[in-house]
Amino acid sequence: MNYKDKVVIITGAGGGIGLATATRFANLQANIVLVDIDAEKLQKTAATITATASSEVLPLVCDVTVEAAVQKVVEDTMRRWGRLDVVVNNAGLMIFKPIEEQTLEDWIKVFSVDLFGAFFFIKHAFKTMKAGGAIVNVSSIHALVTEPMVAPYAAAKAALLSLTRSASLEGKPKGIRVNAILPGAIDTPMLWSNPNVKAGIEKINKKDVGKPEDIANAIAYLGSPEAAFIQGAMLTVDGGRLDRL
Ligand code: NAD
Repeated sequence: MNYKDKVVIITGAGGGIGLATATRFANLQANIVLVDIDAEKLQKTAATITATASSEVLPLVCDVTVEAAVQKVVEDTMRRWGRLDVVVNNAGLMIFKPIEEQTLEDWIKVFSVDLFGAFFFIKHAFKTMKAGGAIVNVSSIHALVTEPMVAPYAAAKAALLSLTRSASLEGKPKGIRVNAILPGAIDTPMLWSNPNVKAGIEKINKKDVGKPEDIANAIAYLGSPEAAFIQGAMLTVDGGRLDRL
């Protein structure tokens, strides 16, 4: 697998899975647009990559919930390299509250990042990408099974699978592949700061915890020509945790 001369946008690049994904693409020689709302984390990712790989990186602070900002990222990418090959919609957040305490604002906040941000990037990638392009949406096993207190997150990640299906259908005639990854428990701050995990409501066997690199490898594969016939797929990457009764 090689991404030499290809251009990849990764959202949520300041965090665990986003950082690992950026590192993986950099090792595969891609040029990378790093997107995050958090400027400090973004700079750390950019510094990590430039210290270890020869890839060019373009760090762009962007709130994925703002369509004009997303459009600008795609425009800046085209200005810099004149091409866009892969978009990884990885930015995400969760909130933890019982349904009785949730507000419409809570739902809008989670849906804005986890679903609408992906929609904006798919929309502007579709207007820009050439045939051969690929989009990878980072959903979650919460799209299929879940736990108390995370209803907006589970619903947004399930809706992201539906968006993947719709975008796959509309992407196919353009030659653009759209797929989703459903990570299980992955060793990032998002996992260990989860109050359900801390309180033991969600029990996690250490053997069921994957590394951010496990997700990065699957994303890099789905974005590559080796996955040319994989379209509209929803790939669970959870070490087999979901299979157990
Ligand atoms: P993380 O919190 O480390 O990273 C998420 C990144 O998204 C952060 O850097 C954050 O600043 C960024 N972000 C948040 N809001 C944003 C916005 N409005 N605009 C731009 N960037 C924004 O989390 P992670 O564990 O690396 O998760 C990455 C993705 O994987 C998320 O979509 C998450 O839902 C999904 N996921 C994670 C796990 C896990 O166990 N860690 C499991 C399943 C799915």
